Amino acid sequence: MQRGPYPAQQARRDPPPQPHPIQPRPFASRPGESWFPRSGRISKRWTTVVVHHSATDSGGARAFDRFHRGKGWDELGYHFVIGNGSDTADGMIEVGSRWHSQKHGAHCKTPDQYYNEHGIGICLVGDFTRSRPTARQMQSLVKLVKFLSYECGIPAQRVTTHGAVTHGTLCPGKFFAVGPIRRALLAPATATSMP
Ligand SMILES: [Zn+2]
Repeated sequence: MQRGPYPAQQARRDPPPQPHPIQPRPFASRPGESWFPRSGRISKRWTTVVVHHSATDSGGARAFDRFHRGKGWDELGYHFVIGNGSDTADGMIEVGSRWHSQKHGAHCKTPDQYYNEHGIGICLVGDFTRSRPTARQMQSLVKLVKFLSYECGIPAQRVTTHGAVTHGTLCPGKFFAVGPIRRALLAPATATSMP
């Protein structure tokens, strides 16, 4: 803690702040594919990413939106859904209506609601207590999380899973591992990941 008057000369000699330990540049999305909300502005509220599975063999944003409304929720609880080739193409990323309005999630309940208020919810279609996510789903997840990490300043260790947060669910299943996602975030950008 600096005490007393702070000489301007000294302030100018202070070292610059350390760079943020995240991916140095965004991962390119396919042409026509945008993960920015319609307003173009991403809220500063997001501090963490929470990964889920759907615990179903099939589905997509539309089906889960219906399911969540049926439970009395306002709309689809997740911000993004990644298809498995059932309702939508394998690895296809659907942007939920909540993401467009930059609204809190309804996917990871804790007593203080921190993870719903500040967590971006991504659901991969499938039941990963019984089988693995597809390679395309994992590729898409890495791309999306790299984008979100860069745009929201979320470091790799803040990418987590529903079960790791609440310890009250198997979601997203024993066949899903968050380690490779974190490692991909920490790895230097390669030629193939450049826009
Ligand atoms: Zn979940």
